[in-house]
Amino acid sequence: MDTEYLFKIHYKSHGKPNRPDLKNEKAKCHWCQLRAFSTSKTFPVAIVNDVDSDFIPRDFVLIENCEPGKGIELPDPEFCVGCECTDHDTCKSDECSCLQDMTVLDETDEDKYVYESKGGKDTLRADYLDTREPIYECHDKCYCGENCPNRVVERGRKITLQIFRTEDNRGWGVRSKEYISKGQFVDKYVGEIITAEETERRRQLSDVAQKKDVYLFELDKFKGDADRDPSLADTVFVDGEFRSGPTRFINHSCDPNLRIFARVGPHALKRFHDLAFFAVKDIPAGTELTFDYVDGEDEKLEEEKRDRRKKKEMTKCLCGSDNCRGYLW
Ligand SMILES: [Zn+2]
Ligand SMILES: [Zn+2]
Ligand SMILES: [Zn+2]
Ligand SMILES: [Zn+2]
Repeated sequence: MDTEYLFKIHYKSHGKPNRPDLKNEKAKCHWCQLRAFSTSKTFPVAIVNDVDSDFIPRDFVLIENCEPGKGIELPDPEFCVGCECTDHDTCKSDECSCLQDMTVLDETDEDKYVYESKGGKDTLRADYLDTREPIYECHDKCYCGENCPNRVVERGRKITLQIFRTEDNRGWGVRSKEYISKGQFVDKYVGEIITAEETERRRQLSDVAQKKDVYLFELDKFKGDADRDPSLADTVFVDGEFRSGPTRFINHSCDPNLRIFARVGPHALKRFHDLAFFAVKDIPAGTELTFDYVDGEDEKLEEEKRDRRKKKEMTKCLCGSDNCRGYLW
């Protein structure tokens, strides 16, 4: 079944009402999956291939939010509480309990709030963008209301995305037809949330464990706080190989234009923090989006590179940037 054929059956029959017989077929259709996104009208995601007849794997499923897998128990919603700020400006100040754990970069700067408005867009402050510090936001359990400025990731993706076939054999990639400002939130990385044991099982099942690692993210940002909250020691993983959103197709670059930040809503959900992509530079419309798959792990990589025997097993990097490290891992 080639792309064009699948595309045709989607447009010819999947929009028709009263066709319960197509239910299973529609559930497997990538265009129907994208149409089910809450933002499909306002900020649609498209799949384009002008290069070959390849298609996103048939059994891959596009999802909008993370899905807890077997053995994963999210905390009781009763423990998910927010701030009691009644006016929006309070959520930019120390009085907002959502910001209590936010890292203050400059001691003379009392401001814990990390966003700023730039050309009508909410962007992450440049000093914060250079860090790997987590972001604490207001959320639906807060009193402040939907328009609180401290709800950027909370409000979701505000740009259109395109999953496209790259022309230089790097498989699929992601770009936007819109200009993205430095500091702007792009989207979250989503997938199945799985236990460490399940992660190990899936790595064993994979033909190439290193290839599997491309889709796995350990939610370990708060592992260091385990002395205060022992549950944080038991980290979980997000696996985007089989079920994920458009950001799963973002390629690696040693000179990336995006970086992932850990984002927390209710503090009780630290163990299940979001992985939020922010632009680290201004990105012209149509530019491929990239991030560094081994961000912050440079030292380990250098060490491995010195080990010549290991080199054969390492994955070559195809990003083509001037400062390319040559190998992914
Ligand atoms: Zn369809
Ligand atoms: Zn707020
Ligand atoms: Zn607040
Ligand atoms: Zn709040």
